[in-house]
Amino acid sequence: MPSRRNFIQTSAALAGAAAMSPTGAFGATTSPAGGRRGKLTFRFRPYTLQMKHVFTVAEMSRSTTPDVLTEIEFDGVIGYGEAAMPPYLGESHATATAFLSQVDLSKFDDPFQMEQILNYVEGIAPGNPSAKASVDIALHDLVGKLLNQPLYRLWGLDPAKAPVTTFTIGIDKADVVREKTKEALHFKMLKVKLGKDNDREMIETVRSLTKMPLTADPNQGWTDRQYAIDMAHWLKEQGVLYIEQPMAKDRVDDLAWLSANSPLPILGDEGVQRTSDLIKAAKNGTYNGVVIKLMKTGGLREAQTMIRLARAFGMKTLFGCMTETSCAVSAAAQLSPLVDWADLDGNLLIANDVFDGVKVVDGKLTLPNRPGIGVVPLK
Ligand code: MG
Repeated sequence: MPSRRNFIQTSAALAGAAAMSPTGAFGATTSPAGGRRGKLTFRFRPYTLQMKHVFTVAEMSRSTTPDVLTEIEFDGVIGYGEAAMPPYLGESHATATAFLSQVDLSKFDDPFQMEQILNYVEGIAPGNPSAKASVDIALHDLVGKLLNQPLYRLWGLDPAKAPVTTFTIGIDKADVVREKTKEALHFKMLKVKLGKDNDREMIETVRSLTKMPLTADPNQGWTDRQYAIDMAHWLKEQGVLYIEQPMAKDRVDDLAWLSANSPLPILGDEGVQRTSDLIKAAKNGTYNGVVIKLMKTGGLREAQTMIRLARAFGMKTLFGCMTETSCAVSAAAQLSPLVDWADLDGNLLIANDVFDGVKVVDGKLTLPNRPGIGVVPLK
């Protein structure tokens, strides 16, 4: 222990050093970004994800997803991000390009000022959650790399607590569903898309091949609340764990009635995009839980807020995704030790991934021991 007298002498010497040096008493550590210098450089390029199979849910079918790949560079270190934009959410190559063209990060010289930078991005224009997520993810990746730590470590999360992920079986004829299920038997949990005219056949076909837990997602496809509650009871008997967005998101009273009476948790997906939707849903009792997706929340910063808030409201949390590369899926996986369930299979549904990142091992999300979001570009 230094004596008080020594401490005062040392403090005075440091104060003198601070006065003389523009970097402050502790030299490099008080300069922006831990001694590294430069401006932040932001780049993006549109990309198109090709799906392995035509993907059908209650609302539509499609075989591609518009995507934008982003990079933030600082002092030679590059953070990667991504915007994945299923057309029904309203963003596109055109909207993302228009938004991201306005993002000027050259005015920032310290990537650790994340609140300041992300508030600036948030303020450029309302909406555009996927485009905003592409900046948020790249910035988080960059900061993790500058500190040489995976994000889960910076957040104090245990990667061993990353959940099992579901793998999604889209709506199709029974013989196709049978083939898709056979290909997915190495997963530990399957998500079955419902909401057309073959709900029971979908579940029975999958169930004929496996006893593993299932989850159900009608994607707003059910129109009658009595049908919905009858299905909830039947699905529980079939070993289904929860139901995502059973009815249209504007049917708030029916959804609240269902959530109050259903034997299975009812999770809001399409009906809960950002924090304000979550607060409204909690107040109205619309859902028992919430589906968090980076492309809805605008990135990791708000996803973390929503997960903690939902837990505080006593709601269940599911971390979901769009069809995405391993970039955004790995970013989500970094936060996944905080949630009850995960549905992070978007990278497994595409044929032209551009990153290596999180893996599914024995059904469970397995985070790579790499800094940031944990991805490296495939070349
Ligand atoms: Mg869903």
